Amino acid sequence: MDKYDLVVIGAGPGGYVAAIRSAQLGFKTALIEKRGTLGGTCLNVGCIPSKALLDSSEHYLKAKKEFEIHGIQVSDLGIDFPRMIARKQEVVDQTVAGVDFLMEKNGISVLEGRGSFVDANTLTVNSADGKSEQIQADRILIATGSEPASLPFIKLDGDRIITSKEALELPALPERMVIIGGGVIGLELGSVYARLGTEVHVVEYQNAIIPTMDRTMGKELQRAMKKIGVKFHLSHGVKEVLNAGDKAVVKADNKKGDEVTWEADYCLVAVGRKPYTEGLSLDNAGIAVDSRGRVEVDAHLRTGQSHIYAIGDVVKGAMLAHKAEEEGICAVEHMAGQKPHLDYNLIPGVVYTWPEVAAVGKTEEQLKADGIAYKTGSFPFKASGRARASMDTDGVVKVLAHAETDEILGVHICGPRAADMIAEAVVAMEYRASAEDVARMSHAHPTFTEAVKEAALAATGDRALHI
Ligand code: FAD
Ligand code: NAD
Repeated sequence: MDKYDLVVIGAGPGGYVAAIRSAQLGFKTALIEKRGTLGGTCLNVGCIPSKALLDSSEHYLKAKKEFEIHGIQVSDLGIDFPRMIARKQEVVDQTVAGVDFLMEKNGISVLEGRGSFVDANTLTVNSADGKSEQIQADRILIATGSEPASLPFIKLDGDRIITSKEALELPALPERMVIIGGGVIGLELGSVYARLGTEVHVVEYQNAIIPTMDRTMGKELQRAMKKIGVKFHLSHGVKEVLNAGDKAVVKADNKKGDEVTWEADYCLVAVGRKPYTEGLSLDNAGIAVDSRGRVEVDAHLRTGQSHIYAIGDVVKGAMLAHKAEEEGICAVEHMAGQKPHLDYNLIPGVVYTWPEVAAVGKTEEQLKADGIAYKTGSFPFKASGRARASMDTDGVVKVLAHAETDEILGVHICGPRAADMIAEAVVAMEYRASAEDVARMSHAHPTFTEAVKEAALAATGDRALHI
C-alpha cells in the first residue's frame, strides 16, 4: 500500500494549491480527484468559464452599443453562440491543463477516482473504470468543495430547470430565462444572457440584489443592469417551478401576496451552494459535520482528528476560490508546524458584472449593527475623466472609516475594473491605513483608481477635489 505524508481529497483551487504548498514544504503528496480534470468547480464549471462568457458577451454589447459612438463602423454584427461556448471550453481546457503541469512539476501523485475514508489514516480511491486502490496517509486534507443548492420544491433536471453548470453550456441562445436568486451567480450569468439579447428575469426573495453586500452596491448595480434590459422582481417568494416540456414555468407570490407566473426557455436556479461530502464516509474517520452539512473545523482548520484538516467550500465561510486557496496554504503550513494567519475580514468579494462590484471589510449595515461610529466618503465614476473616456460612468466608490481614528473599515466599489481596484483597499486595510493615508497617496492620472483616492478624500472631511 502506498504511503504519503499528506493526501489531499479534491483538486479545486483549495486542494490543488494546498498540494503545491505541501510539496514545497517537502511532504510526499498525493491529490485525489474524481472529476476527469483537475481544477474543481472553479476552473471547470465556475470562475473561469463564467468569466470567459462574461468577456465574450461584454465585447458583443460594446460592439453593438458603443462602437458607433467611438466612430468605429461594424457591419453584419452577429452572435455565433456555439463558437462562444467553444471558446469558453478552450479557455477551460488550457487552464486545467496548466494544473496538470503544476502537479507534475511539483512531483505530486495525482490519483483519479473518488476518495473515501476506510479509517482515520486509510483511504480508498475508486476510479470510474471500476478499479480500487487503498493508500495510507499521515495527514489528510478534505477539500471536496460544494454543489448547487436548490429549494425543497424544485427538482433540478438539467433540462429546463438548470444550475450554473448547464447555463455555461447551453446548446443555443435562449429567448427567455428566469433566474431564481439575485446573488452572484444569478447576476453574472444573467448579465451574459441579457447582453446577448435574452429576456432575463431575476426573481429575488429579499428586497435587494446582492443583499449581503453593502446596500449601496446593490442599488448601483441594479440601475446599471436595468440598462441592459434585465428585469428585476424583488421581494418575490418563488413557490413552484415546473418543466412543461418545451418551457419552464415559474410561479411566485409578490409582496402583496398576488401570484405572478413566468414562462421561459430555462429557469436557472441560483439560490446558493451547499457543501459536498457525498461518498467520503466521514463517519469511518470520526469526522463531524454541522447542521448545514459543513465539515466542522477549529481556528486552524483542523477537524476533530488532529491530523485531518478541511478547507474551502466544504467548511464554513464565504464560498470563494481565493478563500479556499488561502485556507489550503494555512492548513498545510500549520501541519508543517508553522504559524500561518488568515484575516477573514480582509478577503475581498467580487461580482464580475459590468460595472463590477468589489468589496472588502465591513458594510455600512454591519457597522451600524455593531454600533461602530464611522464616517463615509463616496465618489461617483461619472466624475472620473478616465471613466468618461471609456464610457464607463456607472457606479461609485464608497470608503468607510472609523469616526475617531480614521482607520479604513470597509471599501465598496461598483464600477469599471472594481475587481482589480479592490486590491489597493486590501493592502491598505492589511496595514491598517487611515482614509487620510490613501487620500495622500499619489494615484496615476488618468486611472479609475483616482476614484478610490477621491472617496478617501471625501471620507476625511469632505475634501474630494473633482466633484
Ligand atoms: P471545488 O472547486 O468545488 O473543488 C472540489 C473538488 O473536489 C471537485 O473537483 C470535486 O470533483 C472533488 N471531489 C469532491 N469529492 C471528492 C471525493 N470524494 N474524491 C475525490 N474528489 C472529490 N469564486 C471566486 O472566488 N471567484 C469567482 O469568480 C467565482 N465564480 C464562480 C462561478 C460559478 C458559476 C460558480 C458555480 C462558482 C464560482 N466561484 C467563484 C466559487 C468557486 O468556484 C468556489 O468557491 C471554489 O471552487 C471552491 O474551491 P474548493 O477547492 O473548496 O472546491
Ligand atoms: P448567493 O448566496 O450569492 O445568492 C443567492 C441568492 O438567492 C440570494 O440573493 C438569496 O437571497 C436568493 N434566494 C435564496 N432563496 C430564494 C428564494 N426562495 N427565492 C428567490 N431568491 C432566493 O448564491 P449563488 O449566486 O447561487 O452563488 C453560490 C456561491 O458561489 C456563492 O457563495 C458565491 O460566493 C459563489 N460564487 C462566487 C462568484 C464570485 O466570486 N464572483 C461567482 C459565482 C459564484
